Amino acid sequence: MGKPAAENTGSTSQAIGRPLRVAIVGSGPSGFYAADALLRSGTPVHVAMIERFPTPYGLVRYGVAPDHSKIRNVIKVYEKTAAHGEFSFWGNVTVGRDVSVDELRRYFDAVIFAFGAETDRRLGIPGETLPRSYTATAFCGWYNGHPDYRDRVFDLGHRVAVVIGQGNVAMDVGRVLAKSAEELRVTDMASQAVEALGTSNVRDIYIVGRRGPAQAAFTPKEISELGEIDGCDIFVDPADLELNEASQAELDGPDASASQRNMEVLRRFAQRSPTGAPKRIFIRFFQGPVEIRGSQGVEAIVLEKNRLTGPPGGQKAVGTGELEVLPCGIVFRSIGYRGVPIPGIPFDEQRGIVPNDRGRVEPGLYAVGWIKRGPSGLIGTNKKDSEETVGRLLEDLPQLPRAQAENQDLRELLAQRGVRVVTFSDWRKIDEAEVERGRLLGKPRDNFTSIEQMLGVLDGQPSRPSA
Ligand code: NAP
Repeated sequence: MGKPAAENTGSTSQAIGRPLRVAIVGSGPSGFYAADALLRSGTPVHVAMIERFPTPYGLVRYGVAPDHSKIRNVIKVYEKTAAHGEFSFWGNVTVGRDVSVDELRRYFDAVIFAFGAETDRRLGIPGETLPRSYTATAFCGWYNGHPDYRDRVFDLGHRVAVVIGQGNVAMDVGRVLAKSAEELRVTDMASQAVEALGTSNVRDIYIVGRRGPAQAAFTPKEISELGEIDGCDIFVDPADLELNEASQAELDGPDASASQRNMEVLRRFAQRSPTGAPKRIFIRFFQGPVEIRGSQGVEAIVLEKNRLTGPPGGQKAVGTGELEVLPCGIVFRSIGYRGVPIPGIPFDEQRGIVPNDRGRVEPGLYAVGWIKRGPSGLIGTNKKDSEETVGRLLEDLPQLPRAQAENQDLRELLAQRGVRVVTFSDWRKIDEAEVERGRLLGKPRDNFTSIEQMLGVLDGQPSRPSA
């Protein structure tokens, strides 16, 4: 790693004769940690954070599950960054549509991409796009009031749902399907989602992993929670917990404490006796999806029994040819997110990231977070990751091309293009209105789900709750 951001002296900015100007595209955790690292670096700098929505915080707002609202407390840290005198928020501006990356480089000495991974990976199996085969990204966006997914309809009128994948997003989907409307109503879940989940017929939820329990991507707290849901039994087949030699070596190796705790939780689940609860969660391992079947919509999923091959830490799932047809009415594909490029920037289609060397795309262009390393890690993982990138940016200062135009000129350009820039104090008004709508419904907040409604608040339009 290069020199830490905090050690920079600022001498290069003195050479420019004005503070460095950096644009950060995206306002999720990685963007905010990059802004913080820059503002604490000792280099005179102004940070402009550009965001396509009028609202900041990315997946902290639109990804964190509504019943995990404590995780959202991290927003308080980001608010401190936003309060810095050299930070500005440019909400409601879509880079690649309202302004190009090339244009941004006229106004800023450096641009940091922090726009995450917006879409989902594909399974590439027959039947993947059948009606009622949904992506977890869309489902999570919908229940969190994400404007892109507000109009989606999820048909929950079927008894059996299968979740493919065993990451923490799959845990969120399984838990939300299993919880009662009463439990969800007091969270900040989008009201239309609470209503739809309140009439859901889903009773059996299968969460299916292609590899074994030692390789599972979920974390101990998240898997434990699945066993604590009122009115829901959990099932794990003890045979799935028998480990091959390589898996045992993985568990005995360094940095395996999360997997060890996962195993302890799963062993406890495997010993439980069913209570006859109305809902049931089945955690299944060693099964890969090979086909989703149905005529008008999902009717079954075909799963192939897998075995593991390869060395400890590199074990892959290989099909055995043994198939099971599991009847189900709904499938959620939760196999990870995938980055979407902004026009005109380098992009690695294979990995779904902007190719970079420890965050440097080229001098003047940088990447942080999921668009830098792929969709992995928890919120806090992004702090170090963003600091690494800011370290590269500060190393490059002597060779950075200097922006010629002023930030104010960009404001004028956007105004000419009919773009209404939402400032951080504008966002605070939207925030207050959402909290007030929530208060009327007895929940922490009720998110606006359309950009029009958000901008309406700034024009003084009434903001009644959505339900
Ligand atoms: P993830 O952790 O990468 O999990 C993806 C899952 O999909 C894995 O079980 C993976 O299995 C499986 N998978 C991938 N390709 C597959 C295929 N072709 N067929 C079958 N299964 C396949 O992704 P995620 O759940 O979307 O989470 C993304 C990140 O956000 C993670 O770092 C996660 O911890 C984080 N997150 C955290 C929280 C929280 O803290 N509460 C909540 C949500 C998300 P393999 O292991 O075999 O590839």
